[in-house]
Amino acid sequence: MDMQTGFRERLIAEGIVFPTGVDGLWGRSATFERIYAGLEAKITRLGAADGAETMRFPPAMAQATFEKSGYMKNFPHLAGSVHCFCGDDRAHRALLGQMERGENWLEGQEPAEIVMTPAACYPVYPIVAGRGPLGADGHLVDVESYCFRHEPSLEPTRLQLFRMREYVRMGTADQVLAFRERWIERAQSFVGDLELPFTVDIANDAFFGRAGKLMADSQRAQTLKFELLIPVNDALEPTACLSFNYHMTYFGDTWGMRTADGDAAQTACVGFGMERLTLALLRHHGFAIDSWPAGVRETLCLG
Ligand code: ATP
Ligand code: ZN
Ligand code: MG
Repeated sequence: MDMQTGFRERLIAEGIVFPTGVDGLWGRSATFERIYAGLEAKITRLGAADGAETMRFPPAMAQATFEKSGYMKNFPHLAGSVHCFCGDDRAHRALLGQMERGENWLEGQEPAEIVMTPAACYPVYPIVAGRGPLGADGHLVDVESYCFRHEPSLEPTRLQLFRMREYVRMGTADQVLAFRERWIERAQSFVGDLELPFTVDIANDAFFGRAGKLMADSQRAQTLKFELLIPVNDALEPTACLSFNYHMTYFGDTWGMRTADGDAAQTACVGFGMERLTLALLRHHGFAIDSWPAGVRETLCLG
């Protein structure tokens, strides 16, 4: 395959990813996962001296936690909830009939009290808040989760189910802002070690609806979100591979999380788009890991 063929087509043709028939839902090969594992281990080493508490979550969270997080106010278009069949034999026969006739068999399904996790840090806040006020040093969590966002796309970098690794800092304004600054620096030397081209820019979240435009403008004006972007897709627009978010007291207020002084805790997080970073490496260094630049293989311990 030559470089003229689209990136997505090459990923499929060379068996790096497996299409499922749904846009943004992919399977991954051994090559993909080998790079992924190298990235994960490197990100762990980058944060190793900071003393983070590790938390790993399944790709879904409690409905009650999800509701209280306020996600539906801002991103109703991205959320996904889990529903299940809860009927008797009669309802089961009706369901099979609906399926056979090609009717909407999902209409009778009931909520499972489980909602897909939209961002890896969401389950963290209520857990830490529930322990009582933070210590004087605040708290740091290393979290990873599959995340769901209903944004089907043909771009291989925009998935409906993807993995997000985050470091989440909770504490005073000074503590969380210093954390964010440190990671903006660290991330640039990390992506530099991967020998990938990048830019860092102010960004905003994709808030829903007419009010969303104002939210996005205000988020930018307050520089609450930065992104590290890498050209990955065939299109000219580079792709956000990491984000650096400052939430002020949003989660502190939502979950009643307090600092040692009794103020509402501030929070910030750095999020790594793991599939996007993997794809960026494949894009720039090719599909044969063994021919990658020696420095990149060393950074990722790829032998
Ligand atoms: P974008 O602007 O591309 O939609 P985002 O601002 O929504 O990204 P965040 O909410 O900051 O992204 O999520 C943290 C990281 O997760 C992003 O920097 C990105 O690398 C990754 N990410 C976000 N959405 C997706 C997706 N649909 N598929 C794959 N990775 C994603
Ligand atoms: Zn986060
Ligand atoms: Mg988005």
